[in-house]
Amino acid sequence: MQEEIIRAEKFNTLAGLAASIAHEVRNPLTVVKGFLQLMKEDDKSTNQQYFSLVLNELGRAENIINDYLSFAKPELKSVENVKLLETVQEIQALLQPYAIKEGVHLNELHDIEEGLLVKADRNQLKQALINFVKNAIEATPNGGNVSLIVQQTGNMVTVHISDTGKGMNKEELSRIGSLFYTTKDKGTGLGTMVSIRIIEAMAGMVTFKSKELVGTTVSVSLPVQKEPATIHSINDKKKEAM
Ligand code: ADP
Ligand code: MG
Repeated sequence: MQEEIIRAEKFNTLAGLAASIAHEVRNPLTVVKGFLQLMKEDDKSTNQQYFSLVLNELGRAENIINDYLSFAKPELKSVENVKLLETVQEIQALLQPYAIKEGVHLNELHDIEEGLLVKADRNQLKQALINFVKNAIEATPNGGNVSLIVQQTGNMVTVHISDTGKGMNKEELSRIGSLFYTTKDKGTGLGTMVSIRIIEAMAGMVTFKSKELVGTTVSVSLPVQKEPATIHSINDKKKEAM
């Protein structure tokens, strides 16, 4: 009985949160629709100003949806053995155009085996790392560096996302990852919170080190997955049976 009540309460909170975020998303979309309507009616080329407004609002909606998507479904859906290095290198390639646009050098360094595995939901792990790397790029001024450093220590493997950006003071550092905390004009304050939840759901851990005007290092640690010997034996048995 008691358990049911707790569950219902959890559901209400999540549903309420989803509703308020849906509302947040609807506002910029309504603005976009309105301007598109105006552009349709007025065919003359005074439309330039509308275009930037439209793109701005679309970008805002996109940010909220991107940051919120995983938060709405925090449970791990398809857990599999994922090659960590491959994933990190994919993210580097994916965010390289963004880094170039922001004038930031994005590089990758590792001293782990190519095939090292972690147990993860591939897409959610990607989403979490992308959020951290995007934050690093956004915090770093033109000409600065963001480094993805992958290292193994015993049973854990860590991706350090290290930037030479603006850094955070003690107060800012204590607030990072709390719901809706953002210092950006078009920020959502969801990315870090969502990402920490994803990593913790994978039995991992996230730590932050920062120094104002020097930079920040976000360290994402995950347990190393041992090569599953059982899969071979199951396959062998299958073969024998056939
Ligand atoms: P958002 O990026 O939408 O602001 P996040 O939850 O991703 O939301 O980040 C929250 C805040 O934490 C940011 O607005 C920024 O002030 C701070 N922050 C996050 N990562 C870094 C970083 N690498 N360097 C400095 N500040 C950061
Ligand atoms: Mg962010």
